Amino acid sequence: MRPVPGIKGFIETSFVDWKGKVASVIFLGGCNFRCPYCHNHPLVLRPESLEDIPWVAIEARLLELRGWVDGVCITGGEPTLQRCLPRLLVEIRSMGFQTKLDTNGSLPDVLERLMERGLLDAVSMDVKAPLRADAYERCSGRPVSVGDIERSIWALAGSGLQVEFRTTVVPGLLGIPYILQGFRPVEVLDPRLKGMVPYSEETLERMRAVVAKDASKRAERVFAPGLASRPVLTALPPLGKAI
Ligand code: SF4
Repeated sequence: MRPVPGIKGFIETSFVDWKGKVASVIFLGGCNFRCPYCHNHPLVLRPESLEDIPWVAIEARLLELRGWVDGVCITGGEPTLQRCLPRLLVEIRSMGFQTKLDTNGSLPDVLERLMERGLLDAVSMDVKAPLRADAYERCSGRPVSVGDIERSIWALAGSGLQVEFRTTVVPGLLGIPYILQGFRPVEVLDPRLKGMVPYSEETLERMRAVVAKDASKRAERVFAPGLASRPVLTALPPLGKAI
């Protein structure tokens, strides 16, 4: 395979990056967002200051890890910005590994093409804020097309892949009342959701109480029962220097 530029990090085995699986993790540099709480900011702000890791070295190690590792997670930064992503995924899958992508969902064209080509088994998408331009800009540090974010959400929701939506809760940046909002089965895009019974207010209150206990945890955003439904909380890694 030709050299793959922009690989800035590699973790051989992780038990936390892909729920239920043992995964290797590849980090690609560069990001189009500037989330104030980003803990990967050297990757985001100064990717050129980090040495590229040669793909051949990673490939050799992955071959040794076959049988131990279920899949490879590609994260960043924002991996969909990198032109090498499709061929990297092709290469990884040809070695027999499953693939997972972490994304901010800002490039739905890229995401859809990867899905159409069958290059992904799972996707974790950060939903930074309520789908309003002002809230999104505040939480991502950049003007963002909320329409693109919404497109990615719906593409993933109908994809049949293992999908996870995540929202990082930062006191003062994103208030708790914004996070766990009930699903309204009215005029929904996907007809399969019409008539679906939303979570009761009592259940939502229980979820909010869990989040309120420690707002520096990460909560999955609740869209609809059966889509991204479980209010699972996972510890956020220690925050680095805010950008
Ligand atoms: S989307 Fe935000 S949190 Fe993720 S890498 Fe980019 S700046 Fe960091």
